[in-house]
Amino acid sequence: MIEHKSPVDIERMRVTGQFVGQVLAELADLAEVGVDLLDLEQHARRRIKERGATSCYWDYEPSFGKGPFRNVVCLSVNDAVLHGLPHRYKLRDGDLLTMDMAVTVDGWSADSARSVVVGTPSAEDLRLIEATETALDAAIEVARPGNKLGDISAAIGAVAAAYGYPVNLEFGGHGIGRTMHEDPHIPNDGRPGRGWKLRPGLTIAIEPWFAAGTDRIVYDPDGWTIRSADGSRAAHSEHTVAVTESDPIVLTRIDGPKDAS
Ligand code: MG
Ligand code: MG
Repeated sequence: MIEHKSPVDIERMRVTGQFVGQVLAELADLAEVGVDLLDLEQHARRRIKERGATSCYWDYEPSFGKGPFRNVVCLSVNDAVLHGLPHRYKLRDGDLLTMDMAVTVDGWSADSARSVVVGTPSAEDLRLIEATETALDAAIEVARPGNKLGDISAAIGAVAAAYGYPVNLEFGGHGIGRTMHEDPHIPNDGRPGRGWKLRPGLTIAIEPWFAAGTDRIVYDPDGWTIRSADGSRAAHSEHTVAVTESDPIVLTRIDGPKDAS
């Protein structure tokens, strides 16, 4: 079932979204060579506690993970792309780091992810990150009443194809609202004009992620961290978006110079 939100609900989700966007920006600033992933996790925990927010990840036990999850951010390095379990690891020059975070504030959730390069970037990694950000922008642009869910998927797939990256269809975007994962599922590729008709009040997390060389994934023994099957690097960009009567509202995009996505 898809729950459509009122403008007041969307404004509440925006409050949560701004907090998620702010903390991700802080984590991106903190992510320097020599910084431990657990330090980033601790920073996010501190901020969530101060804010009186609740992590959507803590104690999460989905079918695809070895739960319960006992962290508040997913930190995925290099060939890791989704659900990276924070662990003791000091970031190295050139690491591609993806940070993904979802919280609930006053009953409303928001979910966002971004990828950055720590230290000296390679052109290939910057291009990969750019592809996910361009795909996210293209998908947001078509998140309008009258369009279909398939238009969002197709917009992401078209950007991936233009850059020459394959697309995995197992993990993609999702509805979001009172909880982190709601209907509908939004694959990162699909056929335009198909699926649910988008209506004002639909709130969704759109999250293109691509691995440079493959659409296949493998799991770490930790039961959570997902990597590209060929060891190629991967990137991920996600925003929580509200479909409205007019332009889509990007609830997790923060104003100001810290927002690079
Ligand atoms: Mg996320
Ligand atoms: Mg998500």
